[in-house]
Amino acid sequence: MEQDLHVRDRVGVQDFVLLENHTSEADFIENLQKRSKEELIYTYIGSVLVSVNPYKNLPIYGPDYVEKYRNVNFYELPPHVFALTDTALRSLRGELINQCILISGESGAGKTEASKKVLQFIAATTRKKASLETVKDKLLQSNPVLEAFGNAKTNRNDNSSRFGKYMDVEFDFTGDPTGGHIINYLLEKSRVVFQAKGERNFHIFYQLLAGADDDLLEKLFLKRDPDLYVYLKQGGSSRLSGIDDAQSFKIVREALYVMEIGDEEQEALFHLLAVIIHLGNLEFASGEGGRASISNPALVSTIAKLLGCPEDKLVKALLNRTIEARDDVVVSPMGRDEAVKARDALSKSVYERMFNWLVQRLNRSLQSDAEVKKKMVLGILDIYGFEIFQSNSFEQLCINYCNEKLQQLFIELTLKSEQDEYRREGIAWEPVAYFDNKIICDLIEEKHKGIISIMDEECLVPGEANDKTFLNKMNKLLSEHPHYVSHAKGDTKTKKTIEREEFRLVHYAGEVTYNVNGFLEKNNDLLYRDLKEAMISSSNRITKDMFTASELSRKKRPDTAASQFKTSLAQLVDILVSKEPSYIRCIKPNDVQKPGLFETAIVTHQVKYLGLMENLRVRRAGFAYRRPYEGFLNRYKSLCPETWPHPKGDAKSAVQTLVNHLKYGADDYRMGLTKIFIRLPKTLFETEDAFQKR
Ligand code: ADP
Ligand code: MG
Repeated sequence: MEQDLHVRDRVGVQDFVLLENHTSEADFIENLQKRSKEELIYTYIGSVLVSVNPYKNLPIYGPDYVEKYRNVNFYELPPHVFALTDTALRSLRGELINQCILISGESGAGKTEASKKVLQFIAATTRKKASLETVKDKLLQSNPVLEAFGNAKTNRNDNSSRFGKYMDVEFDFTGDPTGGHIINYLLEKSRVVFQAKGERNFHIFYQLLAGADDDLLEKLFLKRDPDLYVYLKQGGSSRLSGIDDAQSFKIVREALYVMEIGDEEQEALFHLLAVIIHLGNLEFASGEGGRASISNPALVSTIAKLLGCPEDKLVKALLNRTIEARDDVVVSPMGRDEAVKARDALSKSVYERMFNWLVQRLNRSLQSDAEVKKKMVLGILDIYGFEIFQSNSFEQLCINYCNEKLQQLFIELTLKSEQDEYRREGIAWEPVAYFDNKIICDLIEEKHKGIISIMDEECLVPGEANDKTFLNKMNKLLSEHPHYVSHAKGDTKTKKTIEREEFRLVHYAGEVTYNVNGFLEKNNDLLYRDLKEAMISSSNRITKDMFTASELSRKKRPDTAASQFKTSLAQLVDILVSKEPSYIRCIKPNDVQKPGLFETAIVTHQVKYLGLMENLRVRRAGFAYRRPYEGFLNRYKSLCPETWPHPKGDAKSAVQTLVNHLKYGADDYRMGLTKIFIRLPKTLFETEDAFQKR
């Protein structure tokens, strides 16, 4: 890092801890901007890597860079994702400490690209050995599969991941990768049935239509034009410049083979995709007594054929709902709207279960050999960042809740690692004030009292409850909470009775207004029994794993969507705390995916949401700068006649001599076990200036 200090005016500082005024957000942003302009996309906050999306390919990831960053001390070269990965790998291989790399940021900020660079570096630095090639191949090839099924074009990112992902790369005790394991979170399945203007459904649908040969398409009763299908055309942008769906389809099929998913299973997958595409074109009319009827029955017959299930069973399931009450079984016909909803629920459920099935199969294929006894792991978390939209719903609540949890973990771990380093170096710890967002996590997740509990309770009340009653209950129970803002409360003050179906939460990253419409339905996440039964009767070889009869006989109600998410988040936190963390914080400089454009307002928001100022404050609380004695001495020994050219004694005592000579004040620095700690950047800069002028 030393090499860059003297050019700090033009390209800024490579580590934010060296900002003179570390509490100034403006200075922070200016530093990012200066560096972005020079295409220096990486900057540290201590050991945290901040990355600004360049929106263009930079020549900084080739084999030359891999070599440059291999086995080099973190601070000796300019900041880079390879430096962070290399440090994690060395700690894993050298000290046998499990690692995790947490990547966060808004959609389009560069999280997934960063995670790929991490994997690329791991693969590139793995020994060249035949037995390792397959493992490397599989680790890398799991990505195109997941991206085809889990990514989509959104208005923020042409290749936006619509699910959260945690991936463990497993290593044996010699440090060679042996396999991996993937956990997926909260797939945005609503996209299967609806896309906003300018957006697309998941890539795989378009890839299938563009890339399948004529025979396959015919077998699936599909035409090539995506605009013939309701589920694929709602965004009005089914074809994209710069994306070759047909070519991608080839790549995905190759990747599927690598992951040991062969022709037969691939075809079963494509059948299910076709089923979903056709379901979207199914139309219902309102018949006698308000009962739904199917307007295009020939299509049901196609769908039944593709599924390999009895047509009459499918028709019945699409139009009726069986309700079991005690000993009674009542079959009640659905109305038109209800039938449309049930159809969409089926499409979403099939897609979601298919995605989960895929992840399971990837995991089976990535599994390390049973002989590998002692396993070390490096985990990579690529998960959605904080979201504030124009209109925020259940999904945003889940995502923002996830970010609260990760922020809590981040602050805890950062503080802890700071304290640990001080302890290791024998330096007295000075307590830091910080915002503890446990109170917000509790508001959402606390048993019996939190928002999820209230929502689950409302989901249990038969008939009576709806989104409004849920909102009223929250307003009653939570209105005293400092982080809950009831909109009803304001209304009583003004004595006006405006019906607002909203509540507001004060998140650590800002206030978010949520609209309650659809909360209960999304949380319930019901697929009617009749449709499940129809799916169970399918002869498709994958549905057998996706829908099982045991699911029907289960007495206990399955957990709600929010409760499941809460459980999986708690498990994620457990996984993460047991490892040594590194962080990559991704920022996008503009909303239009354009290189060279740095919009201060947009960046400022993200700096807030990512909690970077808080992070810097914690990191700067005691001593801004710390370096091993050897490095410090090597650079500055020429500034003192007693240490130049040959310092006497060990590095520590030589540094002591040096700083005495430089007249460091008693409170400006501390001498640790192996490192010197300097409180303010100013002290260091003066030394550096003296060095430049000597
Ligand atoms: P996220 O996963 O955070 O939503 P992505 O990683 O998909 O965002 O990045 C969005 C797009 O930005 C990518 O498709 C790529 O075009 C560009 N991008 C991101 N990171 C980089 C990078 N380091 N170098 C070049 N382009 C990048
Ligand atoms: Mg992504």
